[in-house]
Amino acid sequence: MSGDLDPLDWQGFEAQAARLLECAVVQLAGAKDGPVWQAFPESMKAEMRTDLPIKGAGYEAVAAQLAALLPYGVGNTHPRFFGWVHGSGGAASMLAEIAAAAMNANLGGRDHGAMYVEKQVVAWVRQMFGFPDGASGLVVSGTSMATIVALKAARDARINARAAGVGAHKLVGYASDQAHNCVARAFDMLGLGSDALRAVPVNAAFEMDITALRKMMAVDRAAGLEPFLLVGTAGSVNVGAFDDLAALADIAKAEGLWLHIDGAFGAAGVLSDVLRPRLKGIERADSIAFDFHKWLHVNYDAGFVLLRDEALHRAAFESAPDYLASSDRGLAAGRPWPVDYGPELSRGFRALKIWAQITALGTEALGAAISRNCTQAKLLAEMIDAEPSLERLAPVASSVVVFAHVDGDAVTEEIVLHLQESGLAVPSITTVNGRRAVRVNITNHRTRDADLRVLVDGCARSNPSVAFVCIHG
Ligand SMILES: *Cc1c(COP(=O)(O)O)cnc(C)c1O
Repeated sequence: MSGDLDPLDWQGFEAQAARLLECAVVQLAGAKDGPVWQAFPESMKAEMRTDLPIKGAGYEAVAAQLAALLPYGVGNTHPRFFGWVHGSGGAASMLAEIAAAAMNANLGGRDHGAMYVEKQVVAWVRQMFGFPDGASGLVVSGTSMATIVALKAARDARINARAAGVGAHKLVGYASDQAHNCVARAFDMLGLGSDALRAVPVNAAFEMDITALRKMMAVDRAAGLEPFLLVGTAGSVNVGAFDDLAALADIAKAEGLWLHIDGAFGAAGVLSDVLRPRLKGIERADSIAFDFHKWLHVNYDAGFVLLRDEALHRAAFESAPDYLASSDRGLAAGRPWPVDYGPELSRGFRALKIWAQITALGTEALGAAISRNCTQAKLLAEMIDAEPSLERLAPVASSVVVFAHVDGDAVTEEIVLHLQESGLAVPSITTVNGRRAVRVNITNHRTRDADLRVLVDGCARSNPSVAFVCIHG
């Protein structure tokens, strides 16, 4: 019937969906086979470019096109994906996404089953980090968004800016010079200006230099500025370092600062016997931003923000327009809602993937996979140290190993590009102490020790052609 948007033949739809599911399971089960990454073929780019469809092609055609797309992801499902900080995802997310697609729930608020799943996830996160029962939390897209939410609560706890705007303010905050750019971006978006975030130097272990922090704070106070925020990094993006969170908690308490932890991947280490000691002090933070889509391998995207003080969290976001009025009964019950804790009103059911992952696997197995990655990073460091043409550029604190080719920056960069394009392995490039570095980050539950050998051999083998490309290319 014209204007009818549901399938006319549900049985036929079920068969098409089942075929696509079969392809998807085959894809995930074979994640270790084939190249890590392959460029999207020109023919498929061309097929993708169409005019806005006036007439629909139907579900069968769509299912076939979706199946064809499956091999062309980022590559982070492959055991030799080591680039940036990506989680490798898992099968539980696939189940959750099927259910979420059928429910089409909006988790901005109201009283329905999906909300209780997110409430449970919030309760689990509190438990993970030893936060009090009243602590509040929100599932968000990732740590970048989680940081904005946390820092807005920190800002609004200090100045009355929600209606009046920040105006000329004197607020300054501190993070190490290894902190992720999402912190400076949050300062920008919250009207504080990224200049108000001070970059504190680090020590030889790439951890925040506490003496330098104290000095910088004293200078700012003497200049009439108002320190309000201290950001600790638990797992730095460049080298995987952990700031001394207990020391930062002491300073934050003594100086009356809000302590925020960027634990995008490293905070998940509370589940790992190897990393837990490095996170001592995180239980004293005012807020924590971290990702389920990194070291906990929930499929993209799944981030989280946890706040110690629910009232301050809600005070930063709550507003009550007439059309969002709540009630004590019926569907509009159950306030406060997620919309009272963050900027989004319409929200998908990300919480279900998180719930499914933790329910299916349990924290013990998730923590053990993190510990194994840390052991693998140490093993990789030994392999690099045994390779005369490669030089390690930083100590291994957790999952990240950075190294350079002895022939210089251009060769180092070429190694990375060559490995990516060959599909053999995907490391990324960064700069450490002014030198270009191959950056290998192992937040990958599919990586086996043999994959590290392939990576190191790949670096060594690509050397001669690399030199050729650099000199003549
Ligand atoms: C990945 C990362 C971020 C950003 O997180 P998104 O989920 O990509 O928004 C922030 N901080 C650190 C340390 C990270 O590794």
